[in-house]
Parts: sequence; C-alpha cells; structure tokens
Amino acid sequence: MVPGVRLVILGKQGAGKGTQCVRLARHYVVPHISTGDMFRAAVRMGTEFGMRAREYMDAGELIPDEVVIGVVKERLEQDDTKVRGFILDGFPRTSNQAEQLAAILGPNDVDLAIDIEVPMDVVLKRLAGRRVCSTCGTNFSTATPPKYDWTCDVCGGEVVQREDDTVDAIKRRLVLYEEQTEPLITWYLERDKLVSIDGMGTPDDVTQRLVRAIDRRRDALRGR
Ligand code: ADP
Ligand code: ZN
Repeated sequence: MVPGVRLVILGKQGAGKGTQCVRLARHYVVPHISTGDMFRAAVRMGTEFGMRAREYMDAGELIPDEVVIGVVKERLEQDDTKVRGFILDGFPRTSNQAEQLAAILGPNDVDLAIDIEVPMDVVLKRLAGRRVCSTCGTNFSTATPPKYDWTCDVCGGEVVQREDDTVDAIKRRLVLYEEQTEPLITWYLERDKLVSIDGMGTPDDVTQRLVRAIDRRRDALRGR
C-alpha cells in the first residue's frame, strides 16, 4: 500500500476538526471515519447500542474503550480504507485506543497525526454557538447559520443545538480531553508522527495549512 494519507486528526472539541476532516476526505479521496458521527447515527436509529452510547455522550463522558475500539476495528476492516488511506476523526482519544489502533494497523500504521491548535477561550465561544442538523449531522453555527431559518442547507432537516453541548457536558469533555487525549500528542511525537497546525483564521486558511503539512509528509515518505 502506498503510504501517505492514513491520518489521525487530534485537537480539542471546537477546534474545527469535523469541518476540516470533511474537506480533507474530499481533497484526498479517502473515507472520513468519525467515531462521534458513528455514535450519533446509532443514537438517531434508536438501536439499543445507540441508547447506551447516548447516556455517555449526553454526560460528556467517553464511551468505554472496548466498545469504541470494536467499532473502529470493524470499520477499518472495510476495503475502502485499504486503497489510499483514511482520516480518523475523534479517535484515538486515549492512549489505550492509540496502542490498539497501532496493533490493528500493524505494518500499515498511520502516516501522520495532526493536532489542530486553538486557544481555550476561542474553543469555548465556538462550542456555545455550535449547531447541527438533527437529520444528516451537517455542522452549522450561530456565526454560519443555514440560509433559511435553521433549516439544513443539505437535507432540509431541523438545525438544532447538539444534545451533548450543554455547559456541563462541554466542561466535562474538555477536562477529559486534557486528562486522556492531550497525552496522545506526546505519544505521536515520540513516534515521529506528529505535526501541529494553527487552527486560527478562516476554515480555508486552516485547510491550506493541513494540506501543506500532509503533502510534505507524503513527499518525505515517497522519497524513502
Ligand atoms: P466533539 O465534536 O465534541 O469533539 P465527537 O463528536 O467526536 O466530539 O464525540 C461525541 C461523543 O462521542 C464524545 O463526547 C464521546 O462520548 C463519544 N466518543 C466519540 N469518539 C470517542 C472515542 N474515541 N472514545 C470514547 N468516546 C468517544
Ligand atoms: Zn441535514
């Protein structure tokens, strides 16, 4: 398999990860694997699994590692991830998840982990304004609302505040991020896989920085 676009995107919630991952997936033509989206889809379908996941999500807690790892492992076994690569969004979130991911991928380990850096005060402001389509999951915000009266531009669904974007759940998720996810930055740094990207500026600015960093890494891997 050609190395290059097996990516892990890190960064606090509200750093713009979701939007950037969608753009990168389109740019590099690789699947966007978002554990948050997968769990939210299960919640919408009302499966028993979804109902259990929802309790964790609404409280801002992490879903237990065994569950998350099982879901991701199954997804990575599908053929579309084996052609050019994939973009992992929201996974790994704990060092155990990172270890397990490396074990699942074996010789086809991730090429790059990218940390999108945004200061805490900005993150808090963005999260308070975050809105999402209750039908298809497209992200909006009070700063970038849909064209018509909180009706989704993509599917016509109702655009609402995310159920887990309460002040308490947001605070809890940020604490867990610092405790569990931030150490992954060092984890990937030690394995020579980390790049940090400034997440401030327009979404286009950030995409450009990301593409530059990824292309640089791809060139380096090809030259080897
Ligand atoms: P955010 O957009 O706030 O960064 P996500 O959309 O990625 O968060 O995830 C929403 C929720 O789904 C998390 O708060 C958590 O409960 C659950 N979740 C998603 N990914 C993981 C993971 N890798 N490990 C544990 N829980 C997860
Ligand atoms: Zn929609």
